[in-house]
Amino acid sequence: MSPNSGYRLRARGLTAGYGETEILHGIDTDVPEGRITALIGPNGCGKSTLLSCFSTLLPYRGSVTLDGRDLGDVPRRERAKLLALLPQQPTAPDGLTVAQLVARGRHPHQSWWSQWSTGDEAEVGRALETTGVLDLADRTIDQLSGGQRQRVWIAMTLAQDTPTLLLDEPTTYLDLAHSIDVLSLVRRLCDREGKTVVMVLHDLNLAVRYADHLLVMGEGRMAAAGAPGEVMDADLLREVFGLDARVVPDPVTGGPMIVPELV
Ligand code: ADP
Ligand code: MG
Repeated sequence: MSPNSGYRLRARGLTAGYGETEILHGIDTDVPEGRITALIGPNGCGKSTLLSCFSTLLPYRGSVTLDGRDLGDVPRRERAKLLALLPQQPTAPDGLTVAQLVARGRHPHQSWWSQWSTGDEAEVGRALETTGVLDLADRTIDQLSGGQRQRVWIAMTLAQDTPTLLLDEPTTYLDLAHSIDVLSLVRRLCDREGKTVVMVLHDLNLAVRYADHLLVMGEGRMAAAGAPGEVMDADLLREVFGLDARVVPDPVTGGPMIVPELV
């Protein structure tokens, strides 16, 4: 058995916050390897904060392991080769082109003794191609639509070429068709390249459809975890989201589909 027992990330008693304010209250959770995990929960419950702890942008108490190793023991550079984070509101310097931005994803793979290589070039080309933004390579970021920009950010995250991707609301600014494009891309990355993905999604129906595993958060705690078909039900929606809804079989997949009641 591998040292991580099939889990890429494991948190135990994970407690974190900002200044004096505690936001995550002792979270225990596991992220399965090579699968898509959707992290869902109401606004402000701590989803982005949890991803910040996983990517060590935020100090925490308790333990987090990455492939069985304590996250704090993995040097920063090595971590950046293992784990890529697409933040909820990424920012780019003015005037940067798409190709230049995506090339920044290669940063952890470079050092003073090995500068930009043909391998880096190939990874950037591959990321641009996979996300369908190759034809935008020479445009500057400010010349893009919200949807194009979102795909470029995903390309940058992919160029980092890590086995694990943490995507914070990757479908923000995208209409339904473009959201589905991005989620199918995530599905392919998982199925064909064995990537482990944790993504925060607001659309619960997309979350249950595209995720193998759901992590449901409510107010700094883990409310439920498991396969979408096992954990998603009307009680959970009422309890965690304060939403009155029915959960019916999705006519396309047979999985759960959430239909809010009229209020
Ligand atoms: P979610 O991603 O689930 O919407 P967040 O993790 O962004 O929630 O935020 C959880 C809580 O932490 C919210 O109450 C938010 O106001 C607070 N918070 C988030 N970021 C910061 C910050 N940088 N400084 C202080 N408080 C923050
Ligand atoms: Mg958030």
